[in-house]
Amino acid sequence: MTTEAAVPAVTVPPRLRIVRHPLKYRFLEVKRVLRVTPGTVRVTFGGEALEGFCEQQPTDHVKLCFAEEGAAAPVEPVVVDDTWVDAPEGMSEPLTRDYTIRHYRRAEQELDIDMVLHGTGVGSSWAAAAEPGMKLGVFGPRGSEVIDFVHDWYLLAAEETALPALARWIEMLPAGVKVLAFAEVPGPEDEQVFETATDLTMTWLHRGTAPAGTTDLLERAIRAAVLPEGMGYCWVAGEANTLKPIRRHLRNDRGLLKQQVDVDGYWKRGTANHDHHEDDEHEHA
Ligand SMILES: Cc1cc2nc3c(=O)[nH]c(=O)nc-3n(C[C@H](O)[C@H](O)[C@H](O)COP(=O)(O)OP(=O)(O)OC[C@H]3O[C@@H](n4cnc5c(N)ncnc54)[C@H](O)[C@@H]3O)c2cc1C
Repeated sequence: MTTEAAVPAVTVPPRLRIVRHPLKYRFLEVKRVLRVTPGTVRVTFGGEALEGFCEQQPTDHVKLCFAEEGAAAPVEPVVVDDTWVDAPEGMSEPLTRDYTIRHYRRAEQELDIDMVLHGTGVGSSWAAAAEPGMKLGVFGPRGSEVIDFVHDWYLLAAEETALPALARWIEMLPAGVKVLAFAEVPGPEDEQVFETATDLTMTWLHRGTAPAGTTDLLERAIRAAVLPEGMGYCWVAGEANTLKPIRRHLRNDRGLLKQQVDVDGYWKRGTANHDHHEDDEHEHA
């Protein structure tokens, strides 16, 4: 007599792929400015220039282009054959910083960007002074990082700069899927409420008066997390140095595959305009 052995389901975690969008520079006007928390300003850009704007995935982001001191408008990026190229000799490169598309409302032609007020820096300073009527360059998005939502669970973790993307994850993931989310903010007044159809367990971590990017709150929370059964996907973003042990933990201690882990350094303490492609395990849009 033969007994049929149970055949385990083959679950191969999908790989992330990049979908490109037509690369476009827009000079947009601020319609509204809202303090969403004590440390974050939501700037709403609007107008017909947003025609054709693309966005589709949680981590979609643009490059905001700022005017140099004393200049009336930002330097425009040079685009040749849908590719951003170096400025011609003698001309300056645009002054850019990466920011997540928090919301895009196509019908209203409105784009929301949530900007953290962290003190110095062209982005933070501009956000602190933002008022309706001001204009800013918005370049991109160049593309979207697409990951098929076929996983059994998701682990998400972020501090303030990556909170807009974490919110988009929570809003876009399929109904009922298990999500463990960790967010580091200064205190209770910096927490936000996100709408979701997922089975979400949201944990807020308060760093108090410790400067941003100096704590191991996210690392400790992730190490202590009991991950659900099945195939998972982890997305973690924030200060680059604090994320390194988290990436190692997820890959080495938890044994997750490369395509199950996206850890993205959104900024680095002491570095202006940190390049988030620097520590990449895969290409980012
Ligand atoms: C894909 C992506 C998406 C991002 N989305 C957002 C977003 O939606 N909202 C958002 O606010 N940021 C976002 N960021 C982070 C943002 O690009 C950086 O914080 C950027 O450095 C801000 O530019 P800045 O001109 O204010 O400061 P910079 O001129 O770049 O830096 C000046 C100084 O400030 C420090 N610094 C930078 N950011 C912080 C911070 N948050 N806290 C404390 N010190 C800091 C730097 O280490 C440096 O010493 C994103 C980054 C990436 C890569």
